[in-house]
Amino acid sequence: MSGPTPVLPATLEQIRQLHEMHPAQPGRPLVICDVDEVVLLFLAHLEEHMGRSGHRFLSHEYKLTGNIADAAGTLLEATVVRALIQAFFDEWVELQKPVPGAADALANLAGAADVVFLTNLPGAWNREGRIRTLTSHGMAYPLVTNSGPKGGAVAALAAGRSAPVVFIDDSPSNIRSVRDSHAGSTLVHFIADQRFFAGAEDIEGTGLKTHDWRTATTYIRQVIGG
Ligand SMILES: [Mg+2]
Repeated sequence: MSGPTPVLPATLEQIRQLHEMHPAQPGRPLVICDVDEVVLLFLAHLEEHMGRSGHRFLSHEYKLTGNIADAAGTLLEATVVRALIQAFFDEWVELQKPVPGAADALANLAGAADVVFLTNLPGAWNREGRIRTLTSHGMAYPLVTNSGPKGGAVAALAAGRSAPVVFIDDSPSNIRSVRDSHAGSTLVHFIADQRFFAGAEDIEGTGLKTHDWRTATTYIRQVIGG
């Protein structure tokens, strides 16, 4: 256990505005869903983007920093990885394809729960493009941007709810952060890319680990009812 994660002021302000526009109904379940590698493809697009300059993943272990090498085989440092990821989103934010089944799954879940996207999107300027992409793929749900571990944001989003809260994310650090910050959340570890899914560790406290939206929907429906 690493202890609860605080919520960033910029994230909290978005959650405040969201609750002002859509007052939370305590008895309605809440599904908090990540975007990259969960409802929009990320790793496959990033591989294509990096491949143009000869960069590649060294393994299917679930991490970016410490796992990307340049054409000469030299491991990229953390600051270079960050710049690479920023450049990726600046170019690809409106080109990302949906994860198969994601839109249908969220439409199904939205029949019984509020659905909110919580995304760590580098570059505030990419927010509107991300909303356009999600909307164009049939996923027009409220979106909150964050950076760093998501536990504090999830606790703030879930505040005042007595109904079940489900959190879906591909990132082990986000799953752990939510586990340690909001004990009431049911955790779904979702990784669309099957190679990286196979390489991802099992995290204690996770309710379901999957790469498939059909499996996820069945499980989440059991959790939230309706
Ligand atoms: Mg993600």
